[in-house]
Amino acid sequence: MLTKDFIELEEKYGTHNYHPLDVVINKAEGVWVYDVEGNKYLDCLAAYSAVNQGHCHPRIVKALKEQAEKVTLTSRAFRNDQLPFFYKEVCELTGYSCVLPMNSGAEGVETALKAARKWGYKIKGIDENSAEIITCINNFAGRTISIISFSSVDQYKEGFGPFTPGFKIIEFGNIAALEKAITKNTAAFLVEPIQGEGGVIVPPDGYLKKAFDLCKKNNVLFIADEIQSGLGRSGRLFAFEYENIRPDITIIGKALSGGCYPVSAVLSSKEILGVFKPGDHGSTFGGNPLAAAVARESLKVLVEEKLVENSYKMGEYFRGKLREIKSKHLKEIRGKGLFIGIELKPEAKGARRFCEALMDRGILCKETHEDVIRFAPPLIITKGEIDWALPKIEEVLMME
Ligand SMILES: *Cc1c(COP(=O)(O)O)cnc(C)c1O
Repeated sequence: MLTKDFIELEEKYGTHNYHPLDVVINKAEGVWVYDVEGNKYLDCLAAYSAVNQGHCHPRIVKALKEQAEKVTLTSRAFRNDQLPFFYKEVCELTGYSCVLPMNSGAEGVETALKAARKWGYKIKGIDENSAEIITCINNFAGRTISIISFSSVDQYKEGFGPFTPGFKIIEFGNIAALEKAITKNTAAFLVEPIQGEGGVIVPPDGYLKKAFDLCKKNNVLFIADEIQSGLGRSGRLFAFEYENIRPDITIIGKALSGGCYPVSAVLSSKEILGVFKPGDHGSTFGGNPLAAAVARESLKVLVEEKLVENSYKMGEYFRGKLREIKSKHLKEIRGKGLFIGIELKPEAKGARRFCEALMDRGILCKETHEDVIRFAPPLIITKGEIDWALPKIEEVLMME
């Protein structure tokens, strides 16, 4: 079967809720993926930063296989022997004191929103059913109905109403807007320290610190959505570390499993997550032993292979080299660590055609919004691999 046959089959039976590049992958290892016709590509998307540890990391795959042969799912009706160690290890690594495991990122966000609302009523003393949560324009936090209720992207909402009330959307990076939006009913401020799907948008220096201080002053929970920016992507374990803050709640997902299994988690304190009593919240698969074993190994790989440090170093190098490219299409090159966005000028007529040209040269990227190419390879990438990619990226950016 050729690429076109796989695509035809997929298009025939599948729902067309994605517009993927036409590459059919059947094998992957480290930073490389292979298609059904045997072509090799450098993966510069890393499954939206879920495979920070590299594809099919041997240690993570081994942990997955070994656990799969022991016990995969107990449900939380019973306990399992992996979850306590996951709790301890994730807390020790991240500096949080309490954790709640879920599966997808969106579920992690929903969990954080529920925790914040309940904290608002039970601890802050907000009047019943009037809690507000502030979010930012251009956010991405998943696709559930409550989460899209605070999206600013029309397409994400079109046709899916009615929406969940209780959210305010303000400008990202604007402290005065946050100050103005906070009321006595504000339970939380939910923010991505670096907006990923929004186009790798880094807020102005000092913004997160000022926002955090403002939240503290007003008894508002600061919730960091680090599902994409976290676990080393930004060159720090968490992107919020650049501003020396400690969010009340941090949500992680994606690379928590090295891309081997859906695992997410909400990190916080006993005071905040303690608002959940038995029966208040749950998930059949959340915290299952297979997920816990995979996440434990994924975190160990991140630390032991010094991937956070490599992300910082390689990110500096990669961005520096990209900035040397003299292309008329370039508007801005931004990011932190290996979280890199190349914004093209509107005259470049969209990032998609550049992503397609990169694919033809063996590099896989995906446009985000119209005009941004995101480069976010696995954090194991070497200088040699970046040097292999650079002339190809330059050639593509020099196209008419
Ligand atoms: C991907 C992402 C999510 C949603 O995660 P899913 O696993 O797709 O539900 C939430 N927040 C951010 C910042 C993300 O990048």
